[in-house]
Amino acid sequence: MAEKTILIKNGRVFDGESYFYGDVYVKGGRIAAMKSDVPDTADIVFDAREKTVVPGLIDIHAHILGISSDQWGTPADSSFFPFGVTAAADGGAVKGTAELADSFMMRCGVFLFIGVKDDRAQTANAKKLLDVYGDKVMGLKTMYDATDPNVRTLAPLKEAVAFAEECGLPLTVHCNHSPTSMESIVDVLRRGDILTHIFHGDRSICSENDYAAFKKAREKGVILDAGMAGCVHTDFAVLKAAVAAGYAPDVVSTDITKLSAFTRGGKYGLALCMSIMRAAGVSEEKLLPMVTVNAAAAVGKSGEWGVLRVGGDADIAVLEYGDHPFDYNENGNVFSSQKGYDCVLTVCKGLVVYKR
Ligand SMILES: [Zn+2]
Repeated sequence: MAEKTILIKNGRVFDGESYFYGDVYVKGGRIAAMKSDVPDTADIVFDAREKTVVPGLIDIHAHILGISSDQWGTPADSSFFPFGVTAAADGGAVKGTAELADSFMMRCGVFLFIGVKDDRAQTANAKKLLDVYGDKVMGLKTMYDATDPNVRTLAPLKEAVAFAEECGLPLTVHCNHSPTSMESIVDVLRRGDILTHIFHGDRSICSENDYAAFKKAREKGVILDAGMAGCVHTDFAVLKAAVAAGYAPDVVSTDITKLSAFTRGGKYGLALCMSIMRAAGVSEEKLLPMVTVNAAAAVGKSGEWGVLRVGGDADIAVLEYGDHPFDYNENGNVFSSQKGYDCVLTVCKGLVVYKR
């Protein structure tokens, strides 16, 4: 697909496992050389001095136009490339087709949505979409949230898990305002299931300065996802307390919608979520796996997404950490920092798709 060769020079490179200082060379949509035996020029040469070169970022919880919703789903590609994201999973597919997902430049998978009615899991639409999406289905997703009067007991969650088991898929659970204890939810979930919005506060897994359920989830292999949604699902006091107590997430995702994407001057995306995590006390060494290898593992794409390797797909982001201030102040939920991430280059499928 890609004709032009690309040379990203002099960067600090995280390949998904370890770090080195040096160059990455892209040819024919693939990483043709890295670290050693790298040609000294290319059609496009980018100097990444003082910047970090990482695998294209993965957003495992996004809401994409035409898949989650036409009304509040955000456009693929243009809502993701400026933040270094080259692959995303829709976190609640109710419509769309595999052909639609294939029409995007970015890589895209789906978590099919299971609604709840009268305390029962509604699996009919997800069943239908299993065939429509085929191997683009990465999992299922349900809501366990008592602000929905249809959700009253663990029964619909148990039914959703049973359906996920039948399908051989992981289940993502949106959980805040939980109607039952966090431990009861963790008891129902399986290794590889994903709990999202963990820093929501108000009856989420980090809300009461009691991390017993968090510990249990981690021991069990339940994946803990920030699912930030800006301020909507992140109480910054809860986030900071959890990180300080040693309870960082496994994965950081945006839960981006058209509203969060465009009501902050187009600045909301995964790079901003990373800035918030850094400001909350997460080190870069811990943070980068949360948006690359850990995210890939959560959606069944280990070794394929979230890594840089010679011969592999050329999905690359170049990030700068420095004087990129941000400021959140909504309903008393205040979080700001002078330092943050900015994406300076995104390469997807061997093509430069974003440049600052
Ligand atoms: Zn969501």
